[in-house]
Amino acid sequence: MPSTEIRPRQTLLNEMAGRHVAFREIIERFGMLLDRQAEAREELHVVNPAKCAYEEERFLGGEPLVAFVNPEEFGPALRQSASKLWPFLGLVFPPLHEALGTIGKRLDEDGDWLNLCLRAIVHGDEEALTQAAALAHVSPDFLFMALQTAYGPCITAHKEALLSLAPAELWRKPHCPVCGSAPDLATLECHSGQTDFLISKGGELWHHCSACSHHWRFVRLECPGCGNQDHKTLVRFSLPDSPREHIYACEKCRHYLPCLDLMESSDKVDLDLTALGLVHLDAVAQSKGYAPLSPAPWTALGLATPEAKAS
Ligand SMILES: [Zn+2]
Ligand SMILES: [Zn+2]
Repeated sequence: MPSTEIRPRQTLLNEMAGRHVAFREIIERFGMLLDRQAEAREELHVVNPAKCAYEEERFLGGEPLVAFVNPEEFGPALRQSASKLWPFLGLVFPPLHEALGTIGKRLDEDGDWLNLCLRAIVHGDEEALTQAAALAHVSPDFLFMALQTAYGPCITAHKEALLSLAPAELWRKPHCPVCGSAPDLATLECHSGQTDFLISKGGELWHHCSACSHHWRFVRLECPGCGNQDHKTLVRFSLPDSPREHIYACEKCRHYLPCLDLMESSDKVDLDLTALGLVHLDAVAQSKGYAPLSPAPWTALGLATPEAKAS
């Protein structure tokens, strides 16, 4: 029976955990984290960025909207979000507890370090990330994962204000027009209101953002990792019992992206949970030697294999 309402998060998570028993622990833990992130987003006081120097030409050339914002504008929101989420992340993943406590203290007390972190996460400045990680004696990958967990609610809360600046419907880049993150999920969709001849066979391809949950249209038959359009080196595979769930992978750059085919589905889907429900496909793709386009936190923590232990 098709539903126009998204069912409660907890019901969906329970179903996912029931379907993928080997990944139950990951689904439950990250489900709790997604709940906390949604709460953090609600609690944030949204102020429109004061220093925003939007330029249409640069946006249409592929620069995301955050490129026009001074990263320091997100400072208070990042501190607030991290103070809620990092202690929780440490409870859910005890081995990270100590390191999260150390960086949490530093984020509160050291304004220069906060600004380095903001440059790293808002503008994707890799040098700033390396420097901030070295100063805190943690690995850049761990720091990025922790920052992304806290930054997600901040950028999501500011998404509508940023999108109002630009013709985002024209965007056809692989990365997110709002925050520049790589997608964690593709969907195949059939949008109503289009005449049949405009719908390419197999539907439209959309991307979902791993950080701000924005959803935008991309082109089909192109690798979002390297732009490869040679169909002989673009592969798609799925498991026999779930033909609507795919992995798109590229033999040139060896990256993959999970995809959910919604062409024949009239149910509303919670896209923020979907990537977590496809964690079993992450495991298959990684066992074939592909790397995720956007390492989800469960992948960044090395948990996307049934053998991995979360603690
Ligand atoms: Zn985004
Ligand atoms: Zn590629």
